[in-house]
Amino acid sequence: MNSLDIKALDAQNVMQTYGRFDAVIERGEGATLYSPEGKEYVDFTSGIGVNSIGYGNKKWAEAIYEQALKLQHISNLYYTEPYVKLGKELTSRSGMKNVFFANAGGEANEGMIKLARKYSFDKYGMGRSTIVSLVQSFHGRTITTLAATGQESFHNYFFPFTEGFVHVPANDIKALETLLASQAMGAVSIDGTAALKADTTNSGICAVMIELIQGEGGVLPLDKDYVLELSKLCESHDILLLIDEVQTGIGRTGTLFAYQQYGIIPDVISFAKGIAGGLPMGGIMANEKCSQVLTPGTHATTFGGNPIAAAGALEVLSQLNDSALEEVVKKGEYITNTVNGWNLPVVAEVRGRGLMIGISLNNAVPRELAVKCIENGLLILTAGSDALRMLPPLTISYEEIDKGLKILKGILEDA
Ligand SMILES: *Cc1c(COP(=O)(O)O)cnc(C)c1O
Repeated sequence: MNSLDIKALDAQNVMQTYGRFDAVIERGEGATLYSPEGKEYVDFTSGIGVNSIGYGNKKWAEAIYEQALKLQHISNLYYTEPYVKLGKELTSRSGMKNVFFANAGGEANEGMIKLARKYSFDKYGMGRSTIVSLVQSFHGRTITTLAATGQESFHNYFFPFTEGFVHVPANDIKALETLLASQAMGAVSIDGTAALKADTTNSGICAVMIELIQGEGGVLPLDKDYVLELSKLCESHDILLLIDEVQTGIGRTGTLFAYQQYGIIPDVISFAKGIAGGLPMGGIMANEKCSQVLTPGTHATTFGGNPIAAAGALEVLSQLNDSALEEVVKKGEYITNTVNGWNLPVVAEVRGRGLMIGISLNNAVPRELAVKCIENGLLILTAGSDALRMLPPLTISYEEIDKGLKILKGILEDA
């Protein structure tokens, strides 16, 4: 089918929930994509941080092909080898204790929220269920993860949203301290009678949920000091620290998970996007303290730990070894230094870590620039209201980077 036919069928048969760019993609090689007519694009998006090891990756394709011939799915009523191997790889490389496999980021975050509420319920009973998240965060599109998302524009139409979420500004420890103090009202014990002693653990709040670099919100990194203080504050109040690594995880920022650069051990993390190289997979990992909270019957998902997705993920993790992660850091610095070196008035700031890079703009509409980039053969994302965002495949070559940056420079110079 040609591009016109494909767009016509989309308009006729598919719910129009996406503001798609005017590009039809048929195939890819490395970090380069092609339309059915052979138009070439350098990819600075990797399908929003998903295609971590690029396109046409033979070893990855073979791993999933061989697994598909053996066993494609069997449900979590039975044991299989791919997910246990993947669990071992993830725990040994993260220092977390164990993993629950899901299929996407929003679903993973739902599991993380359930775990946090059950941890608190098991220990303190009802009434200690509020989860604090940050202004400008993004946590997903389910009714509950929309409630967790700290952007007002997402809190519309679908009322009632799940209760028990409050938002505080990022990088402002005082705001969280004030909230904890103002909420210290007293939870009720498990039988619903005696009020628990009003102590520091008793603020009605069970968890704080953060992204270390807010992705959709604008590529906004949290300050290291803030994260350290937040972690201490959580620990002293027995409030769980939940880290949404759906976008920052799986090597995107130069370490397997971003928290590994912040000197903290989270209670629970979620991951998804990059884990299986393009197959739908997500999950959560808990530290020792939280590893036994979810018990048989309390949480499940039909496709979780699917053998094909797990086989793909094992290949992704094997390719994202230490030297590949060092390359992620170097390529990120190269892109950042190059863009800064242009000294263009339209560029306000280049920020991020590894290959998660935002360019905030002066007096320009990110979407309009992204459209021009695409016309000129570069796929690029936007973030927040003022930024372009780059999430290239982690395996992108310097040649492809240079090609993409040349197109970007031309567009930014004219902006
Ligand atoms: C993309 C994203 C999600 C949602 O993931 P889905 O797979 O679309 O459900 C959640 N949190 C963050 C930080 C994300 O970037």
